[in-house]
Amino acid sequence: LPLKQVRKLAEMCKELIIMEEGFPVIEEQLRSILDTNHKIHGRLDGTLPRDGELNPDLVAKALGKEVKSFYQPSPIVESRPPALCQGCGHRDLYDALNEVVKEHEGAKVFSDIGCYTLGALPPFRAIDTCIDMGASITMAKGASEAGVHPAIAVIGDSTFTHSGITGLLDCVNENANVTILILDNETTAMTGGQDSAGTGRIESICQGIGVDENHIHVITPLKKYFEEMKELIRKEITHEGVSVIIPRRECIQTLSRKKKAQK
Ligand code: SF4
Repeated sequence: LPLKQVRKLAEMCKELIIMEEGFPVIEEQLRSILDTNHKIHGRLDGTLPRDGELNPDLVAKALGKEVKSFYQPSPIVESRPPALCQGCGHRDLYDALNEVVKEHEGAKVFSDIGCYTLGALPPFRAIDTCIDMGASITMAKGASEAGVHPAIAVIGDSTFTHSGITGLLDCVNENANVTILILDNETTAMTGGQDSAGTGRIESICQGIGVDENHIHVITPLKKYFEEMKELIRKEITHEGVSVIIPRRECIQTLSRKKKAQK
């Protein structure tokens, strides 16, 4: 923080209110920088809620203003959690994966950060973990070493190129008994549809890292390939080593944006 400016500003104020989205990072820093003569308000003293999104009502209340309208949803609106888009290829993949996982009592599915993390929620409940970017493959490897079978990793194509490649290399180096699903929606859907660093090259990246090409498969996650998806996952689970399955179907949101742009 620019200490000189912060102190100068604080000297001109009786009280400071820090309104931060997310964690009260600046508020904490100011509390350590400024002396105790300064009253600092924010998320840490309860002026604002400790977590959650800020909205105009919360800000008005914090400023001591009259709160005219509460941002409450209408009572007729049913609250609902976020969900995978209808028609998303991840849905078809999770349907198939769930069927296969049910056949193995000790199966664990380690996932990652992306749209596909929504597979943790009903109706899929298809993944067991989501820790941080890249953790799916490394956790599956660790679990496999600890005796979990099948140890399945689910990671998106963008997350894979961001921080999954090193985990896969480790799996190859140690010939880990893992089945890795790289859900390729051919975009970085969560951040607006940019290409990922590996768009169009996921198989060759896996091959370059050293995954046996006989155990790298691309499938299209569509309902009509439901049986084929299950068969492939079943087959690769029995392979004692590293398998990579790439269910590839473009994100329907990106696709519809492209189509609109072409009109
Ligand atoms: S944004 Fe794309 S990848 Fe994400 S859930 Fe929707 S269709 Fe699937």
